[in-house]
Amino acid sequence: MRVALLTRLIRTIALDRALARVVRRDLSLCCAWFSHAVLLLRLPFTVAYDRPDMELTFAIIKPDAVKARFTGPIIQRIEEAGFQIRAMRLRQLTQKDAEGFYAVHKERPFFASLTTFMSSGPVVVLALEAPDAIKTWRALMGATDPAKAEPGTLRKEFGASIENNATHGSDAPETAAFELGYFFPGIELR
Ligand code: ATP
Ligand code: MG
Repeated sequence: MRVALLTRLIRTIALDRALARVVRRDLSLCCAWFSHAVLLLRLPFTVAYDRPDMELTFAIIKPDAVKARFTGPIIQRIEEAGFQIRAMRLRQLTQKDAEGFYAVHKERPFFASLTTFMSSGPVVVLALEAPDAIKTWRALMGATDPAKAEPGTLRKEFGASIENNATHGSDAPETAAFELGYFFPGIELR
């Protein structure tokens, strides 16, 4: 009797383990399929780029600067600083476009005003290439608040206020990848 009970117990445990293995395998298969599906869905929104010696950053000439006809002087400064312009478009953002772009700031008190400003007139969006593009472009732009920006920086020269500050630049490689994909989805810059 005891032996029969023990055998049943062992069989049940073995069955449970086998079942658990199947469930684990199916779950990991599901996860793998899901992450592949997410990657495939994201594919049209990524930028194809494979130059290890160079970096891409995303820049905007904001509505205040475009309206004030500073586009030309700012592009001249971009080229003089050694950036190669790899993509460029004049765009009129909708409020929704601006909200999606600045989603990281949605809890900030200035979010509504910032997105209204960003959709108030045309902007110029650019993909800029240089060996250390992200840092170099941020340095050329200067501090967020033009009043605190160093002399010679774009925001000092062309920005009017902490919000109307003439230019935008990605602050990290992940941000640059998101922002380039947001405005130049699927573009190939090899
Ligand atoms: P950007 O992301 O545009 O390159 P940034 O990284 O220097 O600028 P963030 O803190 O990311 O600065 O702010 C995004 C934008 O929000 C600023 O460029 C500016 O237009 C606006 N902004 C930032 N701080 C304020 C503020 N205190 N009041 C109003 N607008 C602000
Ligand atoms: Mg920022």
